[in-house]
Amino acid sequence: MESLKKYRIFGNGYSPKFLDYVSKQFAIDQNSFRLASRRLHPRNTIVKIGAVPFGDSKVFPVIAGPCGLDTKENAIKIANLLKKSGASVFRGFLWKGRTDAYTFQGVGEKGLGWLEEIKNRTGLPIDIEILNEQHLDLVKDLVDVVQIGSRNMQNYSLLKAVGRTNIPVILKNSPGSGLDELLCAAEYILKGGNRNVILCLRGTKPLTGSFSRFSLDMCAFPILKQLTHLPIIGDPTQSANNATIIPNVAMSIAASGADGLLVEVHTNPKEALTDKKQLLDYNQFRQTSIYLNKLIKIYGKKLSK
Ligand code: PEP
Ligand code: MN
Repeated sequence: MESLKKYRIFGNGYSPKFLDYVSKQFAIDQNSFRLASRRLHPRNTIVKIGAVPFGDSKVFPVIAGPCGLDTKENAIKIANLLKKSGASVFRGFLWKGRTDAYTFQGVGEKGLGWLEEIKNRTGLPIDIEILNEQHLDLVKDLVDVVQIGSRNMQNYSLLKAVGRTNIPVILKNSPGSGLDELLCAAEYILKGGNRNVILCLRGTKPLTGSFSRFSLDMCAFPILKQLTHLPIIGDPTQSANNATIIPNVAMSIAASGADGLLVEVHTNPKEALTDKKQLLDYNQFRQTSIYLNKLIKIYGKKLSK
């Protein structure tokens, strides 16, 4: 009975002895992320994006939207549809850090007005990726959460800059990092005084070439949950890189104890300017939401409050 209690994923108050065991097992030094560590802060932290709680054991919020916004019409259309089918936060990216310098880099500043309109029309809070401090200044009074993408996980001046604000931050793991490095990066934001940090697992480089672009280790969700009190969400889109398998990966993330999901959806994936292959269309998203809702009931959660 005692050992079952120790391994509970969703509860609070892990025994220091068990956390020490986890740290040793994964050669993790918990002193390097003391503010993020569950040892210091046994209860789950709840971070609110707008009015939507992340880390609340009764809710499983979904952040959804295109990889990058392309036209105002498409953005408004998908936001209205997503609002109707279970999304709690709209992903409205204006800047894209692309591997290939010759591909679409996002619509940029001209989309700020589109985001304002979407927020007013749908009431959905807005998530945006910022690539640098100038982006932070441009969006901080408009959006509800800023995302620091995998390529910037160790951009310390950007981490410190968001740490000086109170804006909620989604911090993604870099493709080559371990959980301890992700937590050390979060520490930079927490240390600055901003406690509104949500971690997002999006997969790491696979050792061999495969049909998925990144490997998303499902063990990482419950292990990270034991190491930290911060909310943890999962991104099935970047790891699967293929819309036909994303619904299954999304379900696995929910079943692995994550606090929410970040998923890419577009009105017409074939016409999208970025990440065509890995965008869900609206029907795929709606169907995934229906299945997710059934699954998370097992854990006593709902998609939104
Ligand atoms: C994205 O969310 O579109 C993205 C590029 O993610 P990541 O930073 O995980 O690569
Ligand atoms: Mn993308």
